[in-house]
Amino acid sequence: MARQTRTPAEAEAHLPKSSAAGRKTAKAAKAVAPTAADSKVTAPRDMTRPEIVQFLTGLERAWPDAETELHYSTPFTLLIAVVLSAQATDASVNRVTPALFAAAPNPAAMVALGEDGVGELIRTIGLWRNKAKNVVELSRQLLERHKGEVPGTREELEALAGVGRKTANVVLNVAFHQPTVPVDTHVFRLANRTGLGRGKTVEAVEAALERRIPKEMIRDSHHWMILQGRYVCKARKPECWRCAASEPCLYPVKTDRPVIKPPRQTL
Ligand code: SF4
Repeated sequence: MARQTRTPAEAEAHLPKSSAAGRKTAKAAKAVAPTAADSKVTAPRDMTRPEIVQFLTGLERAWPDAETELHYSTPFTLLIAVVLSAQATDASVNRVTPALFAAAPNPAAMVALGEDGVGELIRTIGLWRNKAKNVVELSRQLLERHKGEVPGTREELEALAGVGRKTANVVLNVAFHQPTVPVDTHVFRLANRTGLGRGKTVEAVEAALERRIPKEMIRDSHHWMILQGRYVCKARKPECWRCAASEPCLYPVKTDRPVIKPPRQTL
């Protein structure tokens, strides 16, 4: 199947977003004037293979227990959570899914709950009307095409309502342990900024990462990169001074530890 070209923002609509804490940080960062160290500065070259291994080993040390921050218990609930996470934070999805999965833990129950029933339970997250429609429709498709099971191939997943390439990649990676590299806004920025896998589109970065990352590291690297991008290698100003992978990183304008001025003495 031919790859569609999407911008990072469009593609991000298919992946879990940053946590509430991450959003607060991003909001706070907006008040800071952009510096040379903004998200548009990229590495001057691609990392070498030894640099890639050193970089990812650093991320592994920083995020040893990294996994998706979405709550799920089965491939079906993972698929639904990822679909719901488009343009919503993981935290906001995690607030609605306990009630939703209690009412509809499988495709048949989701179809029985119906669009209105699903909508009632998810209306605190963005685009809830459309998502309720997709969740019910994809549940119906799972029953009709796959005996109620979540399929384990990209083609079959992408044929479901509301499932794009990145949602499929997340499900394949997390539920089926396949070496996919879903590229969200954090991974896109990190890959270009560090020289891990540069590219102008999400598809180009995904292809570069799949080609360049050692096979045994691909699956986990997805989680390491997302957490690194959310909490350390932030969009406006990466926190290079506390980064575990700073040495092999090729970002040309690394940031120093901020200087905290002592309070002014008043007489
Ligand atoms: S050194 Fe800075 S730019 Fe490089 S990965 Fe770490 S935080 Fe990001």
